[in-house]
Amino acid sequence: MMGKLVFRNRKRAIKRMKKRSPEELATAWMQNDLLYSGPGKAIFMILPTIGCSWALSESGGCTMCSYISDSHLEPVGSDKIIEIFEKLISRYDIQEKTAVKIFTSGSFLNPAEFPEDARNHILDHLNTVDGVEEIIFESRPEYVKEEILRECCARAPDKILEVSMGLETLDERTRLIKINKGFSNRDFEDAVKIINRLKDGFMVKSKVYILVKPILTSEKNAIKEAVDTAVYAEKIGVDRVSFCPVTIHRGTLLEDLWRRGAYRPPWIWSLVEIINRTRESVSIPSIMDTSGFGTSRGPFNCKKCNRDLKKLIIRSNLEQVPVPEYECECRARWSAEREFSELTGSVEIRYSEDT
Ligand code: SF4
Ligand SMILES: [Zn+2]
Repeated sequence: MMGKLVFRNRKRAIKRMKKRSPEELATAWMQNDLLYSGPGKAIFMILPTIGCSWALSESGGCTMCSYISDSHLEPVGSDKIIEIFEKLISRYDIQEKTAVKIFTSGSFLNPAEFPEDARNHILDHLNTVDGVEEIIFESRPEYVKEEILRECCARAPDKILEVSMGLETLDERTRLIKINKGFSNRDFEDAVKIINRLKDGFMVKSKVYILVKPILTSEKNAIKEAVDTAVYAEKIGVDRVSFCPVTIHRGTLLEDLWRRGAYRPPWIWSLVEIINRTRESVSIPSIMDTSGFGTSRGPFNCKKCNRDLKKLIIRSNLEQVPVPEYECECRARWSAEREFSELTGSVEIRYSEDT
């Protein structure tokens, strides 16, 4: 049922999409980030591909994701990807310790999305750049194959290679029904095992993405599920946690629910609680993504505290310390909504006064 709804939405979104060239879809930027060795820089690079195979399949993809709208929808050849990569990377004079994060709006390790020659070229190139400490890419667990990952590691043996995987939650029902993710905990654990086996010869690591507040999830459960997922991830041998609070992507089922008032992105107070409780319970590095904070489509509290809390969370990410005590009058409202969120579900409660 959920799959059919997502598929219908996806088809509609793809129909409305304006076709963009591979060059138009690609971009890169640099910002401060936390590396395994401490604070440093990160280059974020988006490279064009045909798009995520899961989103292009009859499953329709995940309920919260619109990356397919940032894809070319037709195969992008190795030569074109390499040309774009070379152009983007040449903009940076990498002196400080730096992580390079390659985003492909899907799975870097799936040759049907990202051609092998382009993958090899990028790894060979980055292995020769002294300042680069980490190379990070994303993949669904089913594409984490020992042979392919070993080849990647062998091409960049002097760097930390991190495979980021969107587990989203440890709750299989949530992942299957509310997120439409299409893989099990067992699939994820198998991928982590492959990565951990390769640690014998290489500096390879895993990162888990945890989605904060999937559709049809109360504020209270969203907090609990996120923290429990981080604990689970550490237990099965994941090296780093990245919480991704929902922002409303265009053309998704999530957007439909939000437009009907049936979904509210998480409160920033909930995110503070998640990151603080995680810092108490797990010892691997954990990051709270702050993109979209305080915007109409992202996590929000009130106009008085959105920005301050964003800054405090960014500092907490870089220094891996708890978010310090902070007071704002909207906290009492969040507390009440969290308390009664089992009754209200994931909906937006509209108040008559201005928030
Ligand atoms: S979240 Fe990942 S797996 Fe799901 S549709 Fe988006 S890119 Fe594909
Ligand atoms: Zn506030």
